[in-house]
Amino acid sequence: MKCVEAKRMITRFVNRELSYRELEQFLYHVEQCRDCMDELDIYFTMYRAFDTLDTGAHQEYDFKKMLNEELHAARRSVFLHKVLMAAASGLLVCLALALIFGIYSFFF
Ligand SMILES: [Zn+2]
Repeated sequence: MKCVEAKRMITRFVNRELSYRELEQFLYHVEQCRDCMDELDIYFTMYRAFDTLDTGAHQEYDFKKMLNEELHAARRSVFLHKVLMAAASGLLVCLALALIFGIYSFFF
């Protein structure tokens, strides 16, 4: 992913609108790229600060800590999504094998 693409995704990341695939690529990029991580940090801090002023929604004012928690939660959700997808495809393989075995034992 190029910086221009990652920077376009920052708003959607903060609003939690990225798909798992986009999120994985975005996280990989910002963890490797200091420039994009700095921009994410600035945008995230501004967004949360305005949100706090507008709604009083957050009790936390350590925006750096909030961003780290958000990145950690995003990494965890990408990982869980991958595990679930692998389990689902493993289950499909088992069902297909059971079906093939069932058909085979029915006819032979
Ligand atoms: Zn970048």
